[in-house]
Amino acid sequence: MNAQLNATHDSRLRSWVASANQAGTDFPIQNLPFGTYSLTPQGERRIGVAIGDQVLDLRAAGLTNISDMNVLMAQSPREVSALRAAISQGLAEGSAKQRQWSGFLHPQDAVTLHLPCRIGDYTDFYTGIHHATTVGKLFRPDAPLLPNYKWVPIGYHGRASSIGVSGQQFPRPRGQTKGPNDEVPVLRPSQRLDYELELGVLVGQGNALGDAVGMEQAEAHAFGLVLLNDWSARDVQAWEYQPLGPFLSKSFASTISPWIVTLEALAPFRAAFARPEGDPQPLPYLDSPGNRQQGSLDVELEVWLHTQAMRDAGLSPERLSQSNFRDAYWTVAQMLTHHTVNGCNLQPGDLLGSGTLSGARSEQAGSLLELSAGGKNALKLANGETRTFLEDGDTIILRAWCEREGFQRIGFGECRGQVLPAR
Ligand code: MN
Repeated sequence: MNAQLNATHDSRLRSWVASANQAGTDFPIQNLPFGTYSLTPQGERRIGVAIGDQVLDLRAAGLTNISDMNVLMAQSPREVSALRAAISQGLAEGSAKQRQWSGFLHPQDAVTLHLPCRIGDYTDFYTGIHHATTVGKLFRPDAPLLPNYKWVPIGYHGRASSIGVSGQQFPRPRGQTKGPNDEVPVLRPSQRLDYELELGVLVGQGNALGDAVGMEQAEAHAFGLVLLNDWSARDVQAWEYQPLGPFLSKSFASTISPWIVTLEALAPFRAAFARPEGDPQPLPYLDSPGNRQQGSLDVELEVWLHTQAMRDAGLSPERLSQSNFRDAYWTVAQMLTHHTVNGCNLQPGDLLGSGTLSGARSEQAGSLLELSAGGKNALKLANGETRTFLEDGDTIILRAWCEREGFQRIGFGECRGQVLPAR
């Protein structure tokens, strides 16, 4: 496990960047997430670190010669940790770097944020057991959780080319569906378009083809976490998913947040990993003392909806649900270890989705499929609108943050995406 506290986590640290000291900021000096930005939409891409409402140009500040995030992510945890320490020291109140580095800051809202790295491969897991159970009941009332669920981290290979950064807009997908009253399937725009509240693990160092990564080493291969919205066309999914799993119901768009929150930044927010009473313990290759002690992460998650009617009326987004990554059935280390146990090589920048992160209570559901009970119970919104699934113009905003007594709160920023009419 990679969860040691050091001087960068000290809650007393303050930055000479004033906005980083404001209560409620996602990016205090204790966070320092990495992202890729340019000064103009088509301009040269740079690696930056978010600090308050600013982004610091790492290369200009002399912190690294690397200009490609995938190369930076491939460095050893020791190197990445040394970089974080240098950034922290330079941005801390009283640092002699202030005069020089002030010129290398740009307001985040004045730059273009890109996908933080090139994502070669995307795997989506299914670690949300409450999601798996609720959705399983809708698809298979007699056998909601299949017999493998508590033994093997379930996943499928997703589509990397359609992953976009927060702000992504995409047309409502068309697909083949067969409703209960349809004699034969038809091709039409999805009528049951949904979001999925997830976290994504971005892989740092890769592993060689053939070399499995054990649990004790697994987190050395995880660079950090982003928010992930795994948009899903439920009507397409229901018709296509057997026997090989989701395909076109998921591959039309996925959205991630622009800032990679490193595992080191998350060290204060560790939680013990334990199986509920009566559940099988993980097989030995998915078990370790470190994972039991602190394999889970206490990350609060939220989904917000901003409809066209809300925007037209000048209303703020409405919160649909809240949950926590602690409730996932498998940890980051277990996902990484399981992915490589057959010798599969992960590469820097690969994305591993957590699966939909729902809580035990119905209002903690991370998708509309669950919140509307498969479309049967429409959600009533405060402005009088209702939703079973997403309408054209709807914007979904995911948010996440970590809070613990004695530590500075850190956040993930936003993961925002909008549904456009079908083409
Ligand atoms: Mn998913």
